Amino acid sequence: MTTACYPGSFDPVTNGHLDVVKRATRLFDEVVVAVLENPSKRPLFTVDERVEMLRRATAEFDGVKVGTFQGLVVDFCHQVGADVIVKGLRAVTDFDYEMQMAQMNKRMGIESAFLAAKPDYTYLSSSLMREVVALGGTIDGLVPDFVIERLKEKFAKP
Ligand code: ADP
Repeated sequence: MTTACYPGSFDPVTNGHLDVVKRATRLFDEVVVAVLENPSKRPLFTVDERVEMLRRATAEFDGVKVGTFQGLVVDFCHQVGADVIVKGLRAVTDFDYEMQMAQMNKRMGIESAFLAAKPDYTYLSSSLMREVVALGGTIDGLVPDFVIERLKEKFAKP
């Protein structure tokens, strides 16, 4: 039985993230999405909100769990019995950082596997989704519909 851990901020989840989760479920028996709990990063959504959106968005997928972590991803991997870290690569801009993390995590005993982002989603990031909605733009088809509603609620004027 192989378990993969897919770590990230997911603030909020995008269709690019969901594509990586879906494809990982075909490669591994179980995929544990690990939401980084890091208040110093000042996320837009609380960790509970991010977990809840991910659970809802992956409800129809087989073999997916959603958890939270603080500290080292490798410690979380040991806790949940994950053998490998899975990550999505969008462009060369992701590469340097991901390579460095993968080599350090390998040194600490956990392998990494990279999935090339789906071309339609290469330009997607949670921060871009937040920015576009905050400025009144549309992101239909780039995140689940309910996530658009949640983003609009966050940016609604009181
Ligand atoms: P971001 O805020 O940049 O979307 P996250 O920390 O939530 O980033 O992302 C977690 C992981 O998902 C990273 O490995 C990142 O490269 C990957 N990822 C993010 N967006 C996409 C996408 N559109 N397609 C494929 N992988 C992605």
